[in-house]
Amino acid sequence: MSEPLSFELSRPGAEPPRLPAPGLSAAPSADVLPKEHLRVKPADLPRLSEAEIMRHYSRLASLNYSISEQFYPLGSCTMKYNPVANEAAAALPGFAGLHPYQDEETVQGALELMWRLERALCAVVGVDRVTLQPAAGAHGEWTALRMIQAYHHSRGDKRTEVLVPDSAHGTNPASAALSGFQVVEVRSGRDGRISLSDLESKLSPRVAALMLTNPNTLGLFEREILDVAEMVHATGAMLYYDGANLNAFMGVCRPGDMGFDAVHMNLHKTFTTPHGGGGPGAGPVGVKAELVPFLPHPTVEKADGHFKLDFRRPKSIGRVRSFYGNFGMLVRAYTYVLAMGGDGLTQASKDAVLSANYLRKQVDGVLEIPHHGPCMHEFVATAHNLASQGVRALDVAKGLLDRDFYAPTIYFPLVVPEAIMVEPTETESKATLDAFAEALKEIVQEAKTNPAALHQAPRNTPVGRLDEVGTARRITAYLTGQSEEPVLRWKRAGK
Ligand SMILES: *Cc1c(COP(=O)(O)O)cnc(C)c1O
Repeated sequence: MSEPLSFELSRPGAEPPRLPAPGLSAAPSADVLPKEHLRVKPADLPRLSEAEIMRHYSRLASLNYSISEQFYPLGSCTMKYNPVANEAAAALPGFAGLHPYQDEETVQGALELMWRLERALCAVVGVDRVTLQPAAGAHGEWTALRMIQAYHHSRGDKRTEVLVPDSAHGTNPASAALSGFQVVEVRSGRDGRISLSDLESKLSPRVAALMLTNPNTLGLFEREILDVAEMVHATGAMLYYDGANLNAFMGVCRPGDMGFDAVHMNLHKTFTTPHGGGGPGAGPVGVKAELVPFLPHPTVEKADGHFKLDFRRPKSIGRVRSFYGNFGMLVRAYTYVLAMGGDGLTQASKDAVLSANYLRKQVDGVLEIPHHGPCMHEFVATAHNLASQGVRALDVAKGLLDRDFYAPTIYFPLVVPEAIMVEPTETESKATLDAFAEALKEIVQEAKTNPAALHQAPRNTPVGRLDEVGTARRITAYLTGQSEEPVLRWKRAGK
C-alpha cells in the first residue's frame, strides 16, 4: 500500500481540529451508562492535524476504483452512472434533515415522495402495491417469501419447498432457506433456460413458490415464461421474480404481465442509487392483489390529499426494517424516475440491451460465448479455451485491472465453467466498449504468448495479486487451532 495507516502517521504533538464544545455538562457517568461500559482511560486514537487527516483520506480515496472515474462492467450488478442530480435532491435540507420520529403532519412531502415512488415502481413492473422497506435485494427476496408463506398459511396450506433454478443468484436459495423453506433446484436446459420437463418433475403441492430471474443470470430471456407461469399456478404455488436486474425491461415488458405474483427491484442497480461502498441499498418488493394484505406495515396511504402511515394491517408480516427503508435512496431513485420520464426509462433499457449485444459481438471469438443468439442486458463468456495455456478467468480479470478496467463478474453463474459475466449498461459510450474489447483481445493474446506475465497481474494497482488460496488455508488452520491468528488488523508495536 502506498498510504500508511493513520495510526502510523500519528504525531503525538499534532494540533487536532478545533471543534465547538460538545455542550454536555459532564462526561457520561454511571447513572447514564452501566459502569462496565465507561472508559477508564481515553481511547488510543491517532493524532493528526486537520490538514493531515484530510490529505490522508483524500489519498486513500484516490486509490479507489469507482464508477465516477472508470468503466465497471460487473455482470449482474448493473454498475451504471449515478447521476449527480440524485445526490442534489437527496441533500435538500427538507429531506436530509428529517428525523424518523417526526410527526406525520411535518413530513407530508416525504410521505408523498414515497407514495409517488411506489406508484412509479408499480407501473414499471405491473403490480398492485409495493413496499419500500427492504434494504437490499436479498432482503426483498426474504420479505416476498415471508409474504408468500403468510398467504399460504392464511389458506391453511402448509407448503414447505421453494424451487430455484441452478443459474440463480446465490441470494435466492439463501433467502428461501432463511424463510424456513427447503430449497429444490431446477435444472437449466442446454440453451441456458429453465428446463420445463425438470420443472414439471419438481412441482408438487409442497411447493410454495418458484423463484425466477428473467432475463436469467446468463442474460437470456426465458421465452417460455407464460407456460412456466401456468404450470406453477396450476399447482397453487406462486411465481417470484428476482428483478434485481430490471435494466433490460423498463417500459418494454412487465413481470406482472408475465404472471409473476411478487417481484423485488434493486434501486441500487436499475434505478441509479449508489452501490456497494457508495451507499446503502434498497430492494422494494411489488406484489399482486392477493399478497397485498400481507405487505409489511406501515404502508403509505393517501386520503383527501393527505398522506399517512397505516399500521392497522392485521395480516401484515410486520415491519421488515426499522422506520421506512433507506429513505435517502428512495429520494435518489424518485429523482431518476422523474428525470428520465417513461420514455427515458424505456430508452435506457433499449440502450442497455444494445450495448450488451454490441459488446458481445466484439468479444465473440476472443473468448468463447457458450450460449448463442442475442442477449438482454448482459452476456456470459468463458475463459475455458485458455485452460491449455494455464490461464483462468481470474487471470483475465486481473489483466483487465492492469489495463484500467474494473473486472467483470467471474465464476458466476455456476452453470458456466470459468465464467466471465459482462454487463456494460446504457451509460457507457461506444468508444469505452471498443476499448474494453480491445483490452480483452490483448489479454487473450498475452495468454497465448506469455501466460506467466498474466499470472503476475495486476502490477499497476495499489495492491498486487492477493494470495487467496494461502489466505483461506491460513484462516482455516487458525480456526481449527492449528496455527497462530493470521494478521487481520494493525496492532501497535509491542502489544
Ligand atoms: C444483486 C442481485 C441480487 C441481490 O441483491 P443485493 O442487493 O446484493 O442483496 C439478487 N439477485 C440478482 C440476480 C442480483 O443480481
